[in-house]
Amino acid sequence: MIDVVLKKGKEKAVLHKHPWVFSGAIDKVQGKPANGEIIRLLSSQSAFLAYGFYNDQSRVAVRLLEWEESIAVDAEWFRQKVRTAVAGRAHILADGDTDTCRLIFSESDYLPGLIVDKYAGHLAVQVLTSGMQNAMPVIIEELNALLSPLSIFDKSDATSRAHEGLETTNALLAGTEPPELVMVKENGITYGINIAEGQKSGFYCDQRYNRKLLASYAKGKKVLDCFSYTGGFTLNSLREGAASVTSVDSSALAIETLTENIRLNGFEASAHNAIKSDVNAQLRKFREEGEKFDIIVLDPPKYAPSRSALDRASRAYKDLNRLGMQLLNSGGLLATYSCSGAMDMETFKQVLAWAALDAGKQVQFIYQFHQPEDHPVRASFPEGEYLKGLLCRVW
Ligand code: SAH
Repeated sequence: MIDVVLKKGKEKAVLHKHPWVFSGAIDKVQGKPANGEIIRLLSSQSAFLAYGFYNDQSRVAVRLLEWEESIAVDAEWFRQKVRTAVAGRAHILADGDTDTCRLIFSESDYLPGLIVDKYAGHLAVQVLTSGMQNAMPVIIEELNALLSPLSIFDKSDATSRAHEGLETTNALLAGTEPPELVMVKENGITYGINIAEGQKSGFYCDQRYNRKLLASYAKGKKVLDCFSYTGGFTLNSLREGAASVTSVDSSALAIETLTENIRLNGFEASAHNAIKSDVNAQLRKFREEGEKFDIIVLDPPKYAPSRSALDRASRAYKDLNRLGMQLLNSGGLLATYSCSGAMDMETFKQVLAWAALDAGKQVQFIYQFHQPEDHPVRASFPEGEYLKGLLCRVW
């Protein structure tokens, strides 16, 4: 096995079990490891630190797997991690109301670069590192042995793979081609999921509990669901008896699937209005028309892909939330989210305080939303925390 030696003074994060080693922290590589090969990471004093995947194409040159020298990172090691992660999701799926969730969440489940989402009997995987790419035959075998899925579909994200020098894939890895719409259940609501064409791996299961909680306020209310995608917040609100729901998204496929989802659940189509539009433009239009709502959901895509983009993203979040606040009836609720890992909860609260000032409103934070248990945050890897939200009472 090839040794990779750290520069003096660069050991601390590794000793604290952070799973990333940046290329700048490496002093020398004793040999020529292939990308994705497992190496031994040594301190500047040549002491063993950990085993990890090596990749000289990536800014994160080593992704650490195992800190105990006597434990081999072999096929059984990967199988064990897969089994543990899958077992950890059992009770999400236990009550029969939900058959979709994230089974494996990359570094947070000790498998850097592997994401596995379960959509009823089908699995969608994202393989984002070259090391994980090498481990895939074993991973697929183990997933097949544990779950006997109807299909395992590779839905890897192009940008992340490019960082590792990997080609883009979108292909069937096992089983038979999934249908165009895979039917799943979440919180007892049916969704059709388009794995191949949909965003990410097809669905945003990280909002499962937040949808349910928000909908518990929706009875008899006039709801606006912005960035609705295939209707997570919309459908939960309709089920809980919202007087009306308006959903806005710029994606035609999202709106089409949402409309189909309303039909699948037998919800009253007359209580619903779908608008394919840019959210900012639509909110301005509502303001001009004097339209008001009782509850507004703002669940935008990631505005800050990195820390350096945070200032600009903060302004975008502020403008969006100011518009949202202005469209609420007095005492109405704003459920607002940020899935930018670079923006922490404290910064997000500050952004909302600015938005409230600009909007001329008073705001109470009445609940803090987080990512659910199938998107765990590993104590040594705070980067795994990305989704946060606030339920605001706006006066
Ligand atoms: N709330 C959704 C997930 C939102 S994901 C759910 O519960 O499933 C973000 C969504 O924002 C995507 O559907 C994307 O199509 C949409 N989107 C991105 N930019 C947009 C814009 N400027 N205007 C409207 N929708 C946009």
